[in-house]
Amino acid sequence: MIRFNIAPYVGKELEYVKQAVESMHICGDGEFTKKCNEWLEKKTGTSKALLTTSCTHALEMAALLCDIKEGDEVIMPSYTFVSTADAFVLRGAIPVFIDVNPKTMNIDETLIEDAITPKTKAIAVVHYAGISPDMDVIMDIAKRHNLMVIEDAAQGIMSTYKGKALGTFGDYGCLSFHETKNYSMGEGGALLIKDPEKVVDAEIFREKGTNRSQYYRGQVDKYRWMNYGSSYLPSELNAAYLYAQLEVADMINDKRLAVWDKYYKELSELRDKGYIELPYVPEYAQHNGHMFYIKTKDLEERTKIIKFLGENDILAVFHYVPLHTAPAGEKFGRFHGEDRYTTSESDRLVRLPLFYSITDEQTDYIIDKVKEFYKR
Ligand SMILES: *Cc1c(COP(=O)(O)O)cnc(C)c1O
Repeated sequence: MIRFNIAPYVGKELEYVKQAVESMHICGDGEFTKKCNEWLEKKTGTSKALLTTSCTHALEMAALLCDIKEGDEVIMPSYTFVSTADAFVLRGAIPVFIDVNPKTMNIDETLIEDAITPKTKAIAVVHYAGISPDMDVIMDIAKRHNLMVIEDAAQGIMSTYKGKALGTFGDYGCLSFHETKNYSMGEGGALLIKDPEKVVDAEIFREKGTNRSQYYRGQVDKYRWMNYGSSYLPSELNAAYLYAQLEVADMINDKRLAVWDKYYKELSELRDKGYIELPYVPEYAQHNGHMFYIKTKDLEERTKIIKFLGENDILAVFHYVPLHTAPAGEKFGRFHGEDRYTTSESDRLVRLPLFYSITDEQTDYIIDKVKEFYKR
């Protein structure tokens, strides 16, 4: 069976975990966490990066930092992972879902302004498949309406919009290092913070509401309970594991892009014949090969191709039941405007296996089988 995903493993992970153990510091914010934070700051150009226990938790921190309150509205796409909405719903806010642009499956930025009300506090953008919506347009809307912008860049590390790293446009950017993402620490993520003045607040939320981070830096002489907060810092064991992969980030990225390009090139004949649609990469975007998907004619054909590939030992998957159609989405949120594309386009999308250790033999075989399906 060709699995849908295998978490990357580059070889140095266990050596670094051992070093963390031997350093006698395995709780959070040791040397490896520092190294990861610095790597992220250098790579993305953000003023501050903080490793977190997940992207979900980075989003929760962003909601806390934006001071999202009961009854506030946050505009977001319905086609996304649950965490984008959860973080705000936990604070009592209402997710206001709007339709996607079918070309990228990202929030349709031209529909945002119509969804703004006096209660709107923020826009949560998702960089689907490591490709952003038009961030200039979104940042302009946010500025004119005085809204915060949170980027769910769980899939977006190493990707750029007009040359600038995803996660660095909005007030907060949230990354994921879950095992399904391009770089992994098992479970983990990071928060990117644009405004240096927000860093201390972020550290306090991340350290159970205390100023322990300042205390460790020798900036205060005792650490105390300063605000509400939670525990959002990962252990050094996880950070050490991740750092091994960040060190060779380009190698992993290049491999993923090569697989993506191969799928795109080899499957374009099926697109040219009108059988399938392929992903669209806007001029402004450089992506990271996070995901390769095709769009079938309809739901029925998608079900058939997933079954056909499964019978041939290939695990292909679909995802994201649109949030506004799910029980919690109906309960906590609302859809603004018309669902022209969210449901119908998500029904057609199927993802092919793409991971760091996938072999040429495997991708050749997958491509052959997809072509065979459309011959019949
Ligand atoms: C994976 C993912 C998340 C959640 O990441 P975790 O690190 O598992 O919390 C959130 N949003 C999107 C768009 C994702 O793809």
